[in-house]
Amino acid sequence: MEREDFDFLAARCEGPVLSPGEEGDDEERTGCNLAVRHRPEVIVSAARAEDVAAAVTFAAARGPPVAVRNTRHGFSVPAEGGLLVTTRRMSRVRVDPHRRSAYVAAGVRFEQLIPEAARHGLAPLSGSAPHVGVVSCTLGGGLPLLARSHGWAADRVLAMDVVTADGEQRHVSPQTEPDLYGALLGGRDNFGIVTGMEFGLVPVVRLYGGGLFYDAEQAPGLLEAYAGWTTTVPDEMNSSVALIPFPDDPQVPEPMRGRRVWHVRIAFTGSAEDGTRLVEPLRRFGPRLRPGP
Ligand SMILES: Cc1cc2nc3c(=O)[nH]c(=O)nc-3n(C[C@H](O)[C@H](O)[C@H](O)COP(=O)(O)OP(=O)(O)OC[C@H]3O[C@@H](n4cnc5c(N)ncnc54)[C@H](O)[C@@H]3O)c2cc1C
Repeated sequence: MEREDFDFLAARCEGPVLSPGEEGDDEERTGCNLAVRHRPEVIVSAARAEDVAAAVTFAAARGPPVAVRNTRHGFSVPAEGGLLVTTRRMSRVRVDPHRRSAYVAAGVRFEQLIPEAARHGLAPLSGSAPHVGVVSCTLGGGLPLLARSHGWAADRVLAMDVVTADGEQRHVSPQTEPDLYGALLGGRDNFGIVTGMEFGLVPVVRLYGGGLFYDAEQAPGLLEAYAGWTTTVPDEMNSSVALIPFPDDPQVPEPMRGRRVWHVRIAFTGSAEDGTRLVEPLRRFGPRLRPGP
């Protein structure tokens, strides 16, 4: 890409526009995922929706393919060339306690939204990792910790601001653009770059939760036992299970290091007393691994 193209783009963006090797380029390219090396020709670290529109308009006119990333917690293949839009600078959060809703810009992570909502006794339908992006997680359906009692996060989306492939900024809701609204929820960046999203929050004033870990080799019947247990507990007892292959790395707590581990996650909105009683059968299923003191 010619220097004049960078200058053209930089003049239209508030956030930095970076060429390969420029200071800050490494952090924008990689994010938290060091396993995948993207090598875009240019990075637009968008600070506002207008930067995203300028980047997409530029790409539509001059040809480079466009990708968008926030935290890099999603799986991806290494990109060679093209224009990468990063959104981490777009960090606006607004909670409306009367409507029980929130508006977040594209770069917001759940850990930024949860404390703002909690001030009002509300919570977003967040997944198991607070450091993933709210917008991307929700565009992918958003299977939350509170799924059993509250359903999918995507079902609470009220409206989205999106830049489509023609560079237009559109306000998309079930009333204004029902097809695009439906396509974005599940289609993610196949239909545009979402610059902001408004969605409903749920009332949560207490939570009894955490995780139970089991060595997969030592607990062969865990999955069946867990599935049976879920049929015995009320809908307020939200849970999920994941099989995690932990690397043999000193950063991983010793009991999990190099092991395949069942992780049972609990999020119960009833009392701690009831939560303790309901979880007891899982505690008895063993042997369990204890990552901390
Ligand atoms: C430890 C861990 C736990 C998880 N737990 C859950 C869970 O409980 N429930 C659940 O539902 N998911 C869960 N996920 C999956 C996670 O929600 C997705 O990987 C999500 O896409 C991550 O979004 P990101 O913005 O953080 O990551 P990124 O890698 O930056 O983005 C992922 C993809 O989303 C798209 N995208 C990003 N920003 C935009 C945008 N503004 N507009 C349009 N498309 C965009 C792009 O295709 C991008 O490649 C988990 C992931 C991890 C790593």
